[in-house]
Amino acid sequence: MSAPTFGRTLFAGGLDPALVLPYPQMDPAEAATVARLVRSLESFAAESYDPAKVEADRWVGDDVIAGLAERGLMGLAVPAEHGGAGLSHTGYARVSEAFGRIDPTLSVVMGVHQSLGTKAVLLGGDPEQRARLLPDLAAGRKLAGFGLTEPGAGSDAFGIRTRARRRPDGAWVLNGEKRWIGNGNRDVLVTFARVDDDQGGGHVALVLERGMPGWESPFRYPTLGLSGNDNRHVVFRDVVVPAANVLGEPGQGLRLAVSVLNQGRIGLGTGSVGIVKRLLEMALAHTGRREQFGRPLAGFELVQEKLGWMVAELYGLESFAYLVAGLADRGVRDVAADAALLKVTATEFLWYATNRVVQLVGGLAYMRDQPYEKILRDVRIFPIFEGANDVLRTFAAERGLSRVARRGPAAADLRGFAPGLDGETKIVAAQLERMAAASGGLLARHGDGVAERQLDLAALSEAATGVAVQVATLARRSSGTPAGDEAAVGRTATARAAARADAALDRLERGAASPLPAIARAAATAGGYAFDLHPAA
Ligand SMILES: Cc1cc2nc3c(=O)[nH]c(=O)nc-3n(C[C@H](O)[C@H](O)[C@H](O)COP(=O)(O)OP(=O)(O)OC[C@H]3O[C@@H](n4cnc5c(N)ncnc54)[C@H](O)[C@@H]3O)c2cc1C
Repeated sequence: MSAPTFGRTLFAGGLDPALVLPYPQMDPAEAATVARLVRSLESFAAESYDPAKVEADRWVGDDVIAGLAERGLMGLAVPAEHGGAGLSHTGYARVSEAFGRIDPTLSVVMGVHQSLGTKAVLLGGDPEQRARLLPDLAAGRKLAGFGLTEPGAGSDAFGIRTRARRRPDGAWVLNGEKRWIGNGNRDVLVTFARVDDDQGGGHVALVLERGMPGWESPFRYPTLGLSGNDNRHVVFRDVVVPAANVLGEPGQGLRLAVSVLNQGRIGLGTGSVGIVKRLLEMALAHTGRREQFGRPLAGFELVQEKLGWMVAELYGLESFAYLVAGLADRGVRDVAADAALLKVTATEFLWYATNRVVQLVGGLAYMRDQPYEKILRDVRIFPIFEGANDVLRTFAAERGLSRVARRGPAAADLRGFAPGLDGETKIVAAQLERMAAASGGLLARHGDGVAERQLDLAALSEAATGVAVQVATLARRSSGTPAGDEAAVGRTATARAAARADAALDRLERGAASPLPAIARAAATAGGYAFDLHPAA
């Protein structure tokens, strides 16, 4: 039997309820640990963390790092034997949410250290490397970064040009440059380089440690937001990296990078949940206080619609995010498609929600002495980094379609959801059938050429996300029988996800070609807008 998957199987129209029911819960002992960590983080942040100061100082602060370390918050996913908190994916995701709620910058700085740099050692390190490197990282004595991006290789990570050559003594000599690397000049940097064909080809993952000659950072980037994230240009000049600092098999380095990024996207999803929860609180407080036309803004229906939208979408996103984390904890190894869909939907919701809160707060939100504009600037990068969203849309759909190409449609069994949810479950069943037909149809029509059908792939991913959010909310609602307000929010979240999936499936079934790509190509030839109503000359 092949390993079970969730997101990927949805593209084939399949669903195994045993994967999602009961809706995943942390075990009670871990839940208690996580609750303690979150409380400790929140009280520390209330006393000692000021997002405006972080922005002015352009660094979260060594004292903040020390304070987080003291509270056991720097090595959340690192096993206890190496000094970490040993949290599951779900536990880690929950604390990531708390970081996001405090400050998007803090969540990114923590993400760089824990989800990227430390995670690469955790996933790729052998026992000796883990024992040697993880304790300092988990204790916050050292900070880690993850250096993949280069001037010529952003989304196309396989295009990296940094090279490593193996010397006869087994050490590697590294040359090249990386850009936009968080913690790129601190203590530990996991980086990736190509290996020449005469040495086996592929890529190698290397751990650089502070003090290695030739690892330099000539400058730091000024950025739109996230000023407290130390974002660096990095240059490698004949850096000699001992064989003991190679992670995994030489040749397989980018596999490690991809695995790290796949898992990191779960924390980015719940980090987004945390940021939006805070924004919601800010918007509720403001619209409840501010009066225009003789009443609080919150008294107007159009304001309520926007706030209600945030609550309902948060419920759907939270349900989906913790389902994906729970699947990873249940041993579903391939959560790449799930995590990609989650990252796309979470970060786009984050951006729209931030934009809407700015709108509701009005001109005040534009003022630099208020917290809103910083959050807006901070979060704009979320749909771009850790996989640009359009790249992830096509990536997830291609993974799903490769499953369909190999094994055909999959079986969907929707038993097990609460009986009161029958009507909603039937909608999911019908959409899964349409997913299988749409995927099969695309493969039949385009074969390998399907990779070029990006609009179709994006629509498939949109449909799969809609189905996944419905399944997540239905599983959550089946497992906890929410009542009152929560029941209404759950119904709304499920219905909105269903409507999005329907709309995407309708587009796929209509199959009407969009005129926009051809318009774009013509505009590229013209070099701009060629239809001035009132030409200057
Ligand atoms: C603040 C910040 C922090 C960062 N931190 C790190 C870090 O710590 N470590 C690290 O290694 N990197 C880091 N990065 C780099 C980040 O991961 C890249 O920005 C990201 O991978 C996208 O690459 P790019 O920006 O070069 O965009 P490009 O690859 O040039 O893509 C630009 C846009 O083109 C479109 N596009 C690209 N390819 C396709 C395609 N195949 N199909 C359709 N559309 C496409 C998308 O709309 C995309 O948004 C960071 C970047 C920033 C800005």
